[in-house]
Amino acid sequence: MDCIFCKITSGELPATFVAESKHAVAFNDIHPRQPVHVLVVPRVHYSDVAELAVSDPEVLADVIQLGVRVSELLSTGSFRLQFNTGVEAGQTVFHAHAHITSTTPRS
Ligand code: 5GP
Ligand code: ZN
Repeated sequence: MDCIFCKITSGELPATFVAESKHAVAFNDIHPRQPVHVLVVPRVHYSDVAELAVSDPEVLADVIQLGVRVSELLSTGSFRLQFNTGVEAGQTVFHAHAHITSTTPRS
């Protein structure tokens, strides 16, 4: 399967990693749209969060917990956690992932 996020989670392609957990990795988005823009990606392939939620709720919980940890590591204060689901919603990579974005990283 030709999936860019499978290649990043397996180490075949590089990324700037921020944190990782048992079931997920977090790395900077290649085209950040906010001062903080991190992707949290489960190690296993599901096409979107709907499929992940039904098939593997433990992994989904781990993805969300890792997203919260990223916000703490980067001292964002307020943040958004977003799963684009489906083409019309703007999903372009069909391996489930959460965007962690924030305009206000604290120093
Ligand atoms: P989506 O549009 O599917 O919700 O989000 C996909 C995200 O993946 C986009 O924000 C895009 O910038 C990011 N992205 C696409 N290809 C790569 C890549 O090769 N490396 C990294 N770090 N991010 C990527
Ligand atoms: Zn994949």
